[in-house]
Amino acid sequence: MGIKTVYEDCDILVVGGGMGGTGAAYEARYWGRDLKIVIAEKANIDRSGAVAQGLYAINCYMGTQWGENNPEDHVRYARNDLMGLVREDLAFDMARHVDSAAHKFEEWGLPFMKSAETGQYLREGKWQIMIHGESYKPIVANAARNSADKIYNRIMVTHLLMDESKGNRVGGAVGFNVRTGDFHVFRAKAVIIGAGGASHIFKPRSVGEGMGRTWYAPWSSGSAYALSLQVGAKMTQMENRIVLARFKDGYGPVGAYFLHLKTYTQNAYGNEYETTWYDDTKAMVGEYIDHQPTPTCLRNHAFVKEVAAGRGPIHMVTKEAFQDPHLEEVGWENFLGMTVSQAVVWASQDIDPKYINPELTTSEPYVMGSHATCSGAWCSGPEDISPDEYQWGYNRMMTVDGLFGAGDAIGGTAHAFSSGSFTEGRLAAKAAVKYIRDLRNEAMKVSDKQINDFKETVFQPMENYQVGRNEIVSGTVSPSYLLPIQGLQRLEKVMDEYVGGISVNYMTNDKLLERGIELLDTMEEDFEHIGAEDLHQLQRAWELKHRLLTSQSVAQHTLFREETRWPGYYYRGDHMKLDDENWHCLTLSRRDPESGEWAMEKAPVYHIVD
Ligand SMILES: Cc1cc2nc3c(=O)[nH]c(=O)nc-3n(C[C@H](O)[C@H](O)[C@H](O)COP(=O)(O)OP(=O)(O)OC[C@H]3O[C@@H](n4cnc5c(N)ncnc54)[C@H](O)[C@@H]3O)c2cc1C
Repeated sequence: MGIKTVYEDCDILVVGGGMGGTGAAYEARYWGRDLKIVIAEKANIDRSGAVAQGLYAINCYMGTQWGENNPEDHVRYARNDLMGLVREDLAFDMARHVDSAAHKFEEWGLPFMKSAETGQYLREGKWQIMIHGESYKPIVANAARNSADKIYNRIMVTHLLMDESKGNRVGGAVGFNVRTGDFHVFRAKAVIIGAGGASHIFKPRSVGEGMGRTWYAPWSSGSAYALSLQVGAKMTQMENRIVLARFKDGYGPVGAYFLHLKTYTQNAYGNEYETTWYDDTKAMVGEYIDHQPTPTCLRNHAFVKEVAAGRGPIHMVTKEAFQDPHLEEVGWENFLGMTVSQAVVWASQDIDPKYINPELTTSEPYVMGSHATCSGAWCSGPEDISPDEYQWGYNRMMTVDGLFGAGDAIGGTAHAFSSGSFTEGRLAAKAAVKYIRDLRNEAMKVSDKQINDFKETVFQPMENYQVGRNEIVSGTVSPSYLLPIQGLQRLEKVMDEYVGGISVNYMTNDKLLERGIELLDTMEEDFEHIGAEDLHQLQRAWELKHRLLTSQSVAQHTLFREETRWPGYYYRGDHMKLDDENWHCLTLSRRDPESGEWAMEKAPVYHIVD
């Protein structure tokens, strides 16, 4: 094969330079002055990941210095929102360190809004502080750039390497440059995965000309999960997908509207509707509906039910708040710093929120470990607070030695958001440095065979295309290969119809899931025949394969948890109630890398905060 191979040997490899990855590089340098730290990023760290376009608020800040909140409060908050189930040790660990991350951001030049009276950071809500955040990502990227020895932009990491001298230990990663087509081999003593969450695994609301527009970043391709799954790392809570109530067609955020502008929702006939569904929800989830604040999924549930009852669409009442010129400005700016497309959609549809209450809708489901849900890898917790069962040596290390994670990659830590993900990166890096120090001079083995086998696998989709293309004279339908877009649409359709997407109002059951899993397994065989026309399509091909593996994990977990824990996110039609007696637990899975078989188990939830 005439493809150039580029080798890089390092101590710590950070896969993905988003919020978690930049935090990891920064902290790795602090503890590992003498270590070689490298980032491999599929885009460009200046504008990559979920924060690429900027943010308007840092959603996780305790404000302990001003006596606003303590880490324990945040654990209670996240636990409540997730219907009782989070990794409290990890959540506490993140919360006790997160303020210092925000202070760093300010020191590095991120403009924070401040209260004119107190000089304190301006609060949007109990946990959120407001920023002028268009340049949030370049600012944290700069810190990473000053810390890492080398940053490889435009490298799509496809697989992890394993140390062949010892079972179950990571040895680095491989991938390809999406511009030059070079094959890249990173041999590393420790790998920190910060490759983000997963969008586009369920069919999106935005189809046709809107295809590509999603709420979570469209380039979040599930790589964090797939890379971990490929090497047999245990995963947790992969069923815990999230559905968002957002402004229609642009997926524009509603947080600032609810919290700062104090706008509220009503049905098509101008009526409040959440109380209508109180009894219905109580019958499903019991006293959780009486918790304050109301868990997000339960508010979604009322939304979904109200629309299904024929009283949609649901509107956000903006007409009142927008009469105040200051709030009107904040309302528009909120999009301009974060989701410009929502402002464009409104302009194109003649919606001026000062005079028209815009529609909301519920999104397709997404999978992530850093926003308001907690899917991801099962990892070791901090040694001072984690129960023994949750602790195997190094903070944020997965069940594969030397493999760490941060942000969306790690399961159990809901409501970390941008600042919490950066903090998790720092925690993972500190532990990874310790791991490397403890290794001392222990040798690792990554054979040429392992590398060459991956090289063949990685470029196979281009080979498929080149050979198969000769069989057709025009068009995109070939008897020999599937294009990535065709594969993506097939995947999204199966996930949508069988695993609880928008077309079925988030409903699934054991029979649907079993059939869905069969179809996903067949797809795995079909995707061996993906054809990639060029390097761009090769990236799409690998993103698709990562999405498929993530989807299989979601389907397996959803089948395993026989209850409806989060109505409004999804429903198990055969088990329509929350079942604390049997399912007040975390779900764990491991996919055997050799056989592809899934093993499921329950893990206890330890409530370390009262
Ligand atoms: C629409 C939206 C609104 C949000 N609003 C807020 C908010 O207001 N406040 C807040 O605090 N948080 C907010 N968040 C959450 C925040 O952005 C995330 O929690 C955070 O970015 C997650 O960090 P991460 O490192 O896990 O992933 P990311 O920051 O997404 O980084 C992942 C990185 O990995 C790279 N990557 C992916 N796959 C590969 C691969 N195979 N090889 C190499 N590189 C790869 C990506 O290009 C990216 O750079 C929002 C997120 C979204 C999408």
